[in-house]
Amino acid sequence: MSEERTQVGIVGAGPAGLVLAHLLRSRGIDCVVLERQSRSYVEARIRAGVLEHGTVDLLTSLGLADRLHRERMVHHGIELLFERSAHRIPLTELAGREITIYGQHEVVKDLIAAWDGPLEFSVSSVSLSGLSSSAPIVSYVDAAGTARSLRCDVIAGCDGFHGVSRASVPDGVLTVHQRDYPHAWLGILAEAPPSSEELIYAHSARGFALHSMRSPTVTRMYLQVRPDEDLASWPDERIWSELRARLDRADPSWKLADGPILERSVAAMRSFVVSPMQYGQLFLAGDAAHIVPPTGAKGLNLAVADVKVLADALTSWYATGDRAGLDAYSETCLRRVWRVQHFSWWMTSMLHPTGDDPFDLALQLSQLRYVTSSRAAATSLAENYVGFPFP
Ligand SMILES: Cc1cc2nc3c(=O)[nH]c(=O)nc-3n(C[C@H](O)[C@H](O)[C@H](O)COP(=O)(O)OP(=O)(O)OC[C@H]3O[C@@H](n4cnc5c(N)ncnc54)[C@H](O)[C@@H]3O)c2cc1C
Repeated sequence: MSEERTQVGIVGAGPAGLVLAHLLRSRGIDCVVLERQSRSYVEARIRAGVLEHGTVDLLTSLGLADRLHRERMVHHGIELLFERSAHRIPLTELAGREITIYGQHEVVKDLIAAWDGPLEFSVSSVSLSGLSSSAPIVSYVDAAGTARSLRCDVIAGCDGFHGVSRASVPDGVLTVHQRDYPHAWLGILAEAPPSSEELIYAHSARGFALHSMRSPTVTRMYLQVRPDEDLASWPDERIWSELRARLDRADPSWKLADGPILERSVAAMRSFVVSPMQYGQLFLAGDAAHIVPPTGAKGLNLAVADVKVLADALTSWYATGDRAGLDAYSETCLRRVWRVQHFSWWMTSMLHPTGDDPFDLALQLSQLRYVTSSRAAATSLAENYVGFPFP
């Protein structure tokens, strides 16, 4: 087995792993990124698309956002639609910041294109050892089938919810906080121009729907469905007719544009946090440590916020030997994680009918009327939605 050495071993080339790699590189810290999937798979994976101001600023400061600035859509508000009536939340007016629409896979493509350091795709049999020592090791088999090991000072577990990093921590160390929801999102990507300039979050007795977009010609839309929903029972026409019904409004001039569906999937909804987000020299970041329901559009942004904290702590440790930032990593990240968890749970609870219970429905409508009629309540939604400044 060949052994190599680096300062930081990064497991996973999603947004967390790739942004961390660029941050470390910009500060003169060596790292190696290992990714289980192929480059083409990672670059085509359709996921999030709403970037907070802080995420855009960070990518811009690293010189990674030229295409993003050329191609992004800047939004200054979102619409809440309920009782067939649309209400705009003017995000920028209320919270002073805008949001950016730019697909997560486009971010990933930009980060990979700009990376000239070590990054191995299609690795397998990844395992972590010596996590409580000062020289932990990542063992893996590379794309050519050669068994290799990487001796590190620190391992960053950026390998998502189903990765190996969190599972490598001994039993009993991490406390898991979890909430499952009785619904999931059926998401589609369609070749159709957006029917609205801004995102529409629609509450209807039939269920929640979200009208979103990825470009002037591509729409991204979601329907609330059951967690065990069978995609096969959703032919194109059923999807479009359900979207039309849930996005219906009193204004007869509004029409939903449709077109060929390019991609469809069902994603379960979950709130999940592990605490602490570190063990010995292993630091978990992004979905490896927490999952938020997508209603608040936060998963990617939270992953980026984590690795900013980790990069700052590592920079200080390498420069001065002071471990204070590393020791406080989990505590620092979890403050933001729980704020985002609460906001994502709150948006989810307000917008997803859970059945025929008239009490729940009345509470949701009351809350929707409140956030769309009180400037104070709308401001609270807006400042959470655009995101708080990075630590
Ligand atoms: C199916 C799905 C759909 C989503 N849709 C939305 C959405 O519509 N809106 C929204 O706001 N958010 C969405 N999210 C959330 C958002 O995409 C995530 O929060 C974000 O991807 C987190 O980034 P990450 O880098 O932490 O994890 P990931 O993006 O999951 O990256 C982890 C990487 O680690 C790799 N990996 C896993 N195991 C190993 C291993 N053993 N060795 C090496 N590499 C490994 C994976 O292949 C992956 O590339 C979605 C998430 C998922 C999973």
